[in-house]
Amino acid sequence: MTDPIRTDALIIGAGPVGLFAVFELGLLDIKAHLVDVLDKPGGQCAELYPEKPIYDIPAIPVITGQGLTDALLAQIKPFAPTFHYGEMVAHIERIGDPAFRCTTVSGKVFEVTVVVIAAGGGSFQPKRPPIKGIEAYEDKSVFYAVRKMETFRGKRVVIIGGGDSALDWALNLQPLASRLTLVHRRDEFRAAPDSVRKMRELVAAGSMDLALGQVMSLAGEEGVLTGAVIRSGDGAMATVACDALLPFFGLTMRLGPVTNWGLALKGDLVPVDTATFETNLPGIFAIGDINTYPGKLKLILSGFHEGALMAQQAYRHVHPDKRLVFQYTTSSTSLQKKLGAA
Ligand SMILES: Cc1cc2nc3c(=O)[nH]c(=O)nc-3n(C[C@H](O)[C@H](O)[C@H](O)COP(=O)(O)OP(=O)(O)OC[C@H]3O[C@@H](n4cnc5c(N)ncnc54)[C@H](O)[C@@H]3O)c2cc1C
Repeated sequence: MTDPIRTDALIIGAGPVGLFAVFELGLLDIKAHLVDVLDKPGGQCAELYPEKPIYDIPAIPVITGQGLTDALLAQIKPFAPTFHYGEMVAHIERIGDPAFRCTTVSGKVFEVTVVVIAAGGGSFQPKRPPIKGIEAYEDKSVFYAVRKMETFRGKRVVIIGGGDSALDWALNLQPLASRLTLVHRRDEFRAAPDSVRKMRELVAAGSMDLALGQVMSLAGEEGVLTGAVIRSGDGAMATVACDALLPFFGLTMRLGPVTNWGLALKGDLVPVDTATFETNLPGIFAIGDINTYPGKLKLILSGFHEGALMAQQAYRHVHPDKRLVFQYTTSSTSLQKKLGAA
């Protein structure tokens, strides 16, 4: 066992909610380390939709997924959190009242007073379509997320799916791609009606193609795609030339090790007390998409609110002998000093 890293709080998950939790904890003198299985911060925002606009962050009319992540990193900088990327927390063991020993799969050990689970949907993974041999093309010609739109400039792109992600990316990538084909098994779409209308207009204008059917197999060599073989409803087979294939079949959320931590669970979610966002285990909190309570909305702004209330209760565990004084950042010189603003 390596020497344990000792700190006040371990935040499991560096998505937007885990990042903002650093800020709320920091204002209350609670030091935090963050662990994430991904190799970067931002959770779903950075991994699934870095270049897409978000319109419902209070006081920010529009910001991309990556933009929000960068802004949160700037906001928490004064608290100098330590990040541990590429690490999955596998075990949590109670060693005090409260105090926990958390161990990652690679054997990194943390001893902390409180644990904040901000694990979103757990380790989320895109659903792989049933296309024989697709694994050989993944991350070379087959992509389940668009990290950088420029990657697809001048390419022949095939997108599979009928939901919002498929239609959104078809509309976003159509101007960049040399040719874009949307493949869906039937002529009905789950996506927003406005997106479907725009897609049909582009197809009618000859600016993109819509193929009704299923991608059965792929043509290419050593991960470099040259075509997708599509079977239409009447059984006819046709090959569409393509350099990049983007299947959008939804995500599978895997809760993973969270199920082994002795938490009361409701389905794949962790029930919490909405006054404190504490779980059934005192000292272990759950905020963001991972938790559930009556009226829960899986929105970033809900996770921010949850982080603020969580920090108040975490303070009582980390600083049991101190009185908690409610303060505004606008008027408290002590808070401004912590933020480096006074
Ligand atoms: C396409 C799309 C568009 C969206 N648009 C909006 C929008 O416009 N407005 C809005 O408010 N919300 C939107 N959302 C939802 C929003 O992204 C989520 O509500 C938000 O990301 C939840 O943040 P989180 O920090 O709780 O979890 P996540 O962002 O899921 O981050 C959780 C992190 O925890 C890590 N993790 C999980 N388990 C472990 C473990 N055991 N050990 C270590 N790390 C772990 C994961 O790798 C992940 O990075 C959208 C979602 C999608 C998919």
